[in-house]
Amino acid sequence: MLEKIGDTNWNRNKRVQETWKLCPDCKKGYWCPDNKKYSSCKTCGTKVGKTYTNNRGHIYIKLAKEDPHFEMTVKLSLMGEGWVRVARYLMAKQVGRCLTEDEQVWHKDGDKGNNELDNLVIMRSRYAHRLKPNLDQEPENTYEEVEILQG
Ligand SMILES: [Zn+2]
Repeated sequence: MLEKIGDTNWNRNKRVQETWKLCPDCKKGYWCPDNKKYSSCKTCGTKVGKTYTNNRGHIYIKLAKEDPHFEMTVKLSLMGEGWVRVARYLMAKQVGRCLTEDEQVWHKDGDKGNNELDNLVIMRSRYAHRLKPNLDQEPENTYEEVEILQG
């Protein structure tokens, strides 16, 4: 069957409605779930250097395996491996090393889409030395700013 742009389909496995869209990169059609805002097909959207915004507003960038910051990347369930939050990536480049797991990057203005360097700050839990810190549940006042030592 030949789909046309704008055709819709009920994906029984994923239980979502999909729309047939044209990928601006490879000019091929692809099924885009209506509850996702993919701007290209999966092949093009997961290439190195591409960004992906999850439904909580965090922007991720895809890194090459050779990238010195690749060890900071995580695997995203929908997009595969090799993704790091843009804010973390920018701050790691700024400090000239990979950030550790207990270092978080916060957006000063609370806008996860504002990844200007002066809006970002590296924070570390005071309890990060504990064996298994549960960073997501740590109250904000237990965090302190990580001093950046410039080369
Ligand atoms: Zn494509």
